[in-house]
Amino acid sequence: MSELTDLTLAEARDGLKAKKFTSAELTDAHIDAVEAARGLNAYILETPEKAREMAFASDVKLAKGEGGALEGIPLGIKDLFATEGFRTTACSRILGDFIPTYESTVTTQLWRDGAVMLGKLNNDEFAMGSSNETSAYGAVANPWLAGNTDKVTAKSALSDLATAGGAGVLVPGGSSGGSSSAVAARLCLGATGTDTGGSIRQPAAFTGIVGIKPTYGRCSRWGIVAFASSLDQAGPFARTVKDTAILLRSMAGHDPKDSTSVNVPVPDYEVAVGRSVKGLRIGVPKEYRVEGMPAEIEKLWHQGAEWLKAAGAEIVEISLPHTKYALPAYYIVAPAEASSNLARYDGVRYGARVPGKDITAMYENTRAAGFGSEVKRRIMIGTYVLSAGYYDAYYVRAQKVRTLIKRDFDNVFAAGVDAVLTPTTPSAAFAIGSKASTDPVEMYLNDIFTVTVNMAGLPGISVPAGMSSENLPLGLQLIGRPFDEETLFALGAAIESSAGSLPKAEKWW
Ligand code: GLN
Repeated sequence: MSELTDLTLAEARDGLKAKKFTSAELTDAHIDAVEAARGLNAYILETPEKAREMAFASDVKLAKGEGGALEGIPLGIKDLFATEGFRTTACSRILGDFIPTYESTVTTQLWRDGAVMLGKLNNDEFAMGSSNETSAYGAVANPWLAGNTDKVTAKSALSDLATAGGAGVLVPGGSSGGSSSAVAARLCLGATGTDTGGSIRQPAAFTGIVGIKPTYGRCSRWGIVAFASSLDQAGPFARTVKDTAILLRSMAGHDPKDSTSVNVPVPDYEVAVGRSVKGLRIGVPKEYRVEGMPAEIEKLWHQGAEWLKAAGAEIVEISLPHTKYALPAYYIVAPAEASSNLARYDGVRYGARVPGKDITAMYENTRAAGFGSEVKRRIMIGTYVLSAGYYDAYYVRAQKVRTLIKRDFDNVFAAGVDAVLTPTTPSAAFAIGSKASTDPVEMYLNDIFTVTVNMAGLPGISVPAGMSSENLPLGLQLIGRPFDEETLFALGAAIESSAGSLPKAEKWW
């Protein structure tokens, strides 16, 4: 029943309710797809027994006409979410075989609504990266191949993906690369992600799917491995705007266990999908027209504005003057918070321990062996910018810039703009190994359009909008007012329908 994996989440939900198939059948079809796609390295832990058990329980409810909003729907979970009784590593050696005794709030809510867990998904170590190449479990393959890539060569590259790269294959984006690859390759109907500087939106754009980072405070961070606490937010990936709306409704909500989660009602986001965008004012920021941006990205951006105009929205040019400082400020704030959050991995409380002659040597040995090089780089930058002599020069200044970035958006929204339209990324997916081995700054530049949104705490969605000259997916980003994810779903659906039916990643793995 492989066609069951081609359904959208909404179609699967309706099919289950109409008793066209059972959750056991739907889940088995996905378990088979996951097994057949091991080469992509998207899942780092498969939980088929748990999945079958959950599907069975859902079928009992569905047979009685009961069940929650996601009853019987198989999902993949980014390895940053703590799953009770199931290994959670954030794809770092330092967490070793850590098995949490608790469940994150977001996943608790998904299971409460009836979703089925297929397994844990690969990501960049501690979510630090834009390509999933920093994972201790190795790189993940993007199910999309560049125009001229030979399928046989690509398939053979998969055999050494976890250890030796995988020449000829593209990255799925990062840090939620396992999530984006799994959803695009139809290895689950939806997946969770986290986004600190773009880790939901950029991988969604690179794999031709939808991803939304909600407003900071919309989803609880409790039970999610922390990277940079003032920027981290959870959000969903799926193949349609409607499917992400359905997932976000279950994931969102106030949680007393996270003091930064906000106590505002969670709307029925599905209703917003298909809502008219007539009369909405869409800002196009001139500062996002960055040097070296390929013409095809510029063209897509223009096309997106035209589509929204045709749907009745008004397009206005806006200015976000502090955009140029966003990336350097982000790469001070995020590592600063990361260095503090990661201090807890000391070889005593969690996971791996490497002994030493005394306790200090044990800490040093554990951290030297347990962290990968990108994480070490972030810890060193973070402790440097927080150190006594440099705190004012770097950290305090970056926080001031952050306030200015937020103010830019406040001004635009106060002037009547309802959402901002930008490209999601400055390029299509790049090849594994092409950026990681050279200059880390080149990798950081990929986050240019996404980090401002985290710095300002705003919601942002990435929607597939077209294909590159190499037949790779490209995405457009919409940024909204705080807690106005509904407008993003309405506008995202308008872009989705204007873009028409875009190609799907063809199975070669
Ligand atoms: N690519 C960015 C970074 O490396 C963002 C990562 C994320 O959003 N988790 O920090």
